[in-house]
Amino acid sequence: MCLEPANYHLNRRQLLAGLASGAALAGSAGCVATNAASGRDSFTGFQSIEDDIAQGRADHPKILKSFGGAYEGSRLVGYVQKIGLALAKQAEYQQYPYRFTILNTQIVNAFALPGGFIYITRGLLSLASSEAELAGVLSHELAHVTARHGAERQGAQQVAQIGLLLGSIGLQVAGLPSELMQIGQTVALAAIKGYSREHEFEADTLGVRYMSKAGYNADAMATFLASLREHSQVEARLLGLPPGKVDEFNIMSTHPRTVERVKQAQQAAARQSSAQPGGKGEWRRDEYLDRIDGMVFGDDPKQGVIRGQVFTHPVLRIKFQAPDGFHLRNSPNRVAGRHPSGAAMNFDAGPAKGAASAYDYLDSVWASQSRLHDLESLTIDGRDAATAWTTGRGQKGPVHIRALAIRRNQKEFYRFMFISPQDQAQRWARPYRRSGLSFRSISRREAAKVRAYRLLVVPARTDDSIAGLARTLPYGRFNEDWFRVLNDLAPGQTFKPNQRLKVVAG
Ligand SMILES: [Zn+2]
Repeated sequence: MCLEPANYHLNRRQLLAGLASGAALAGSAGCVATNAASGRDSFTGFQSIEDDIAQGRADHPKILKSFGGAYEGSRLVGYVQKIGLALAKQAEYQQYPYRFTILNTQIVNAFALPGGFIYITRGLLSLASSEAELAGVLSHELAHVTARHGAERQGAQQVAQIGLLLGSIGLQVAGLPSELMQIGQTVALAAIKGYSREHEFEADTLGVRYMSKAGYNADAMATFLASLREHSQVEARLLGLPPGKVDEFNIMSTHPRTVERVKQAQQAAARQSSAQPGGKGEWRRDEYLDRIDGMVFGDDPKQGVIRGQVFTHPVLRIKFQAPDGFHLRNSPNRVAGRHPSGAAMNFDAGPAKGAASAYDYLDSVWASQSRLHDLESLTIDGRDAATAWTTGRGQKGPVHIRALAIRRNQKEFYRFMFISPQDQAQRWARPYRRSGLSFRSISRREAAKVRAYRLLVVPARTDDSIAGLARTLPYGRFNEDWFRVLNDLAPGQTFKPNQRLKVVAG
């Protein structure tokens, strides 16, 4: 259904695409309408504004489920909503029911669903340092909505699915037995698929316009992008990945932008709206820091926490320890770990599908298509368990895979997958065994002791040092790097007396 039938026409590209695919023209035509925000003719399939809203409403619960739910910190929720709505007032398409949600995850990202549903993660909020930087991110997402990039993208690609695969920790293992790679559920998340560079440029240009009109300094869009880039580089070092490589859930991957392009967008916006290019408008640093003071930092205990090599889930009341040198990452569906040598592990849970024992589960459910070796039953922490190994092909050659299933309850099994490059299989055999055997239940008392980290904002004292203030961060030898990213301090740069700094309290 199209809102603007008068503008209905096919352009040559769509016509050719329709003919080339052999599809009936009626089915592949779609709508071309002039977008009120971008001023472009845009191909939005058969999606009307009402369709946008209906789609956003339908996908909203999926987003919440996949990204840890909504963050309930009351000081922040109303604040983000207020800023978002002030920006939305400057936007075209006032008929969208704009809604801004903070997602309770340490993943660093922001995204939008069609119809005005806009998301920003707790991880991203921890990196921003002013209200203007937050406004820059929200404006950019708002622009994806008003320019209807989501609908355009679907019109062009009809792609709405991405899998939560091991790729997200940079371990692209191709050719692994497919059922072993089916980790948790696949989520319908067109929202976090990457946009094109053209869409990004357009979102920045429109975003600069919205934030400037709302009174913010549009330079904040570029300063924050620089912080996000710094952060992704520290993360890459932390995970032993090549510089510039980020996981597919990071904003640098879903919104491919460079500081240079953002500055160009700022100039383009200035030309279009005769606004001053940068230098004007408010930053509102103190207001922002006041609001994020006390926010949960890192994993929320409700989703399980990682402390060094140990993963503890106080709600499921379980815990295990990864081998030394592994860096663990928690996400709603699984815990993934990576070692700089290329070894990797994954922990999750899968449906029992009626399997009577762990042996049966491994053999005929989880790895039914794989050639398993040395399949054996065992007992771990008093629970029925089974293990076996198989082989696969990784990005850099053959890999050895140790699978371990442990009974959770009648309906589910916990699953460990330990992967190593084939030539390291011997080296990892014992550490992996120890890690699997470390799995155990925890008492209510132990569970109650698990507390979240909090982000606190404190004034620097004259006797403070970066090393001292960074000590409480949970990133080991990368603590200082992380501290600098949190506080916009370049390498070698120090803070000023009384400067307000973000620190982490355990
Ligand atoms: Zn974007």
